[in-house]
Amino acid sequence: MGRIPLISGNWKMNLNHFEAIQLLQKLSYELRSHNFDSVEVSVHPPFTNIRSIQTVIDADRMLFKLGAQNCHFEPSGAFTGEVSPAMLKKLDVDFVIVGHSERRGLFGEANEMVAAKASAVFSHGMVPIVCVGESLEERENGQAEVVVEAQIRESLAGLKRDEMSNVVVAYEPIWAIGTGATASPSDAQEMCSHIRSTLASMHAPAAEKVRIQYGGSVNASNVNELMSMPDVDGALVGGASLEAASFARIVGYEDA
Ligand code: PEP
Repeated sequence: MGRIPLISGNWKMNLNHFEAIQLLQKLSYELRSHNFDSVEVSVHPPFTNIRSIQTVIDADRMLFKLGAQNCHFEPSGAFTGEVSPAMLKKLDVDFVIVGHSERRGLFGEANEMVAAKASAVFSHGMVPIVCVGESLEERENGQAEVVVEAQIRESLAGLKRDEMSNVVVAYEPIWAIGTGATASPSDAQEMCSHIRSTLASMHAPAAEKVRIQYGGSVNASNVNELMSMPDVDGALVGGASLEAASFARIVGYEDA
């Protein structure tokens, strides 16, 4: 197995670049270097803050990985308002979230576009965090597994074999995002296990290597139980990542 957990803070459309630097510095103060021994930690500021955060990570030799929340799939061109994977790579970005449910729901991103973005992120030397997850209605109708499996198959279509093993998947049930309603550890485990079986059927060696994060109202009180599930390899954290002390407690869940 040997999958190193990845805990990612998705800052969404919050914080100007001064506030973002402050949050990173507070977070760094709260954490100890041993916190990074067994866990990888990425922060995903808005585009306008990436350069500032990169500079601070670099200057203070912080151990955070740098992340983005989205990108276009083309390397450059007439795409007003978009940011390319090549631009992110130039800023030393390591991970790019693609297909977040807010992108899918509010900005009309379908699996095909998510797949194009995931491939583009890899081809620029970064790692995509591909988000999937069912709505409340889909769960109540017993369709959650079918929906998530289709998202996995279609959003990862086109990845090369080595990319299939290195991708990160974030299982984020839409009804749990920003609502305080976390999936129970056993429900999270059940879906993450189903995702792993789906990955195995697509490319067998990928199944044991791919890190599957759970996301949806993760906080310092529920992270431990979620992380104890065998197929949960990390967390994608929204709200609780905006407060240094709470994100630090999530990152340091093993110390609790
Ligand atoms: C997210 O934005 O991916 C997320 C899981 O948000 P929250 O932790 O606030 O539910």
